[in-house]
Amino acid sequence: MEEFDFVVVGAGSSGGPIVDRLTAAGRYRVLLLEAGPDDTSRWLSIPLGFARTFLDPEVNWKFATEPEAQLDGRRIYWPCGKVIGGSSAINGMVYIRGLPSDYDGWRQMGNEGWSFDDCLPYFKRLESYPGGASDLHGGDGPVKITRGEHCNEMSSVFLAACAEVGLPPTDDMNGTPHERAGLYHATVSNGRRVSTGQAYIAPARRRANCRVETGALVERIDLADGRATGVTYRKDGQSVSVRARCEVVVCAGTVGSPQLLQLSGIGPATLLGGLGIPVVRDLPGVGENLQDHWGVRSTYKIWWRRSVNDDINLLHLRLTAAVEYALRRTGPLTATPAVAGAFVRLLPQSNGPDAQFHFLPWSIDRIDQGLHWLSGFTILANQSRPESRGHVRIASPDPAARPAIVANYLSTDHDRAVTVAALKFARLLARTTALSRIVTEELFPGAEVSSDKDFLAVARREGQSAYHPVGTCRMGGDTGAVVDARLRVHGIAGLRVADASIMPTLVSGNTNAACMMIGEKAADLILADAR
Ligand SMILES: Cc1cc2nc3c(=O)[nH]c(=O)nc-3n(C[C@H](O)[C@H](O)[C@H](O)COP(=O)(O)OP(=O)(O)OC[C@H]3O[C@@H](n4cnc5c(N)ncnc54)[C@H](O)[C@@H]3O)c2cc1C
Repeated sequence: MEEFDFVVVGAGSSGGPIVDRLTAAGRYRVLLLEAGPDDTSRWLSIPLGFARTFLDPEVNWKFATEPEAQLDGRRIYWPCGKVIGGSSAINGMVYIRGLPSDYDGWRQMGNEGWSFDDCLPYFKRLESYPGGASDLHGGDGPVKITRGEHCNEMSSVFLAACAEVGLPPTDDMNGTPHERAGLYHATVSNGRRVSTGQAYIAPARRRANCRVETGALVERIDLADGRATGVTYRKDGQSVSVRARCEVVVCAGTVGSPQLLQLSGIGPATLLGGLGIPVVRDLPGVGENLQDHWGVRSTYKIWWRRSVNDDINLLHLRLTAAVEYALRRTGPLTATPAVAGAFVRLLPQSNGPDAQFHFLPWSIDRIDQGLHWLSGFTILANQSRPESRGHVRIASPDPAARPAIVANYLSTDHDRAVTVAALKFARLLARTTALSRIVTEELFPGAEVSSDKDFLAVARREGQSAYHPVGTCRMGGDTGAVVDARLRVHGIAGLRVADASIMPTLVSGNTNAACMMIGEKAADLILADAR
């Protein structure tokens, strides 16, 4: 059986930095196993390719929740990267860290080493921020970050609307923890997406001590005497077992990580027993504590022909855009889905911003139907720190079977109140002097929706995941926790989890930056313990 020092499962936002830092240390042989293919498709590197990879089963797990009773029985679509780079290869590229108080909250829950001051050096280490190094930012990290340039004309109208309702403009959406509005920074450089595949795994692969296997679905963690000894994976129809001399590091994401632990006998004894899986370690928290942002859109028709709809709806415009991109890496194909945003405190009792608003310079009814044949924009709103909790539980001992995902969106009064307030705030923005100069009609939810009850019904009927699921292998010291503050699985030696699943609570913003930070920090913890 082939031996490595470390076996890393999952080449995503957290797995990428871990493999890079472990191999750069020079002393260890590292195997990275990824279920998806290599990141060679050109749609992955073109920012507007987001619209294509969003539904592409070649690079996307395309999960869905179980029917959610409180959402009129709807199954909610969950895209998730299945490719080198993981979800960082198909995401919306917004670069937001969340609030310092998010991380301080993790520390207050007993997780030593996870306050914002503890995490900041890792954010700085990963970033090449425009403007260079400062107290808050890194200047020469592997992840190049820029500010989107496309459709800024429309963004400035959105930001003027924000200013009208008292949201101060900022040049750095990662710079202040208060209410604010501004242009987003994005993981884009020279008109191309920067995934962890590009930023971390490509350089790691050039090292002799790194091996990357794609199309390799890890089916179980091999365990002996309470220790992870390696993994067994399936590739090209063959089952392959490899040994890990030091550790197995699971970075398979919020769905994949609890699924793999449960398949390996680490999880709630009742669940595993019911499926005939021998229980190696009864950890009731594996798969629980699922959290996600619930996004609800408001869509407007405008007379100003400046939206992405106007740029690419006609064939000749698409061709012009393709030529411009091929020659200069500029133009509509460099557009990221959300170009600007705002963080707002909606409920008076909240300590700080409790909702995020994304300005999308385009409009649709459904993504599979394409852009509207009119000029339009969308304001997508989501509550920042939802209370609702769900779970991920395997439904079969077959590693190829989908686990059951239950998100329980909008299942608390608080979450419903913030979501209704967010929809009303989006309308307030659209009715400012700045935006009403260009808006001709509210397409959705529509002027007839006016009471709180109506807005809530819209949120239930039409809301979608904002694609930020976290929390299913929660970090902590209590009986419901799965990993400790060094990300070691409780009660199993030689096994760590490091990805979105370890977050005890969802951060107040998009989650990619936090996942890359987790990968950077995990690498330091692993290297320190190996020494
Ligand atoms: C459509 C979409 C849009 C998003 N937009 C944004 C955004 O604009 N900004 C932002 O900050 N965040 C965004 N996010 C969220 C962010 O990208 C994710 O939170 C983050 O990438 C998750 O990182 P991760 O390391 O936990 O998992 P992932 O990056 O998903 O990586 C997990 C990897 O493990 C692999 N894997 C899983 N199971 C196995 C197995 N058994 N064997 C082998 N390999 C396995 C998967 O194929 C995958 O490559 C978006 C996400 C999506 C899906």
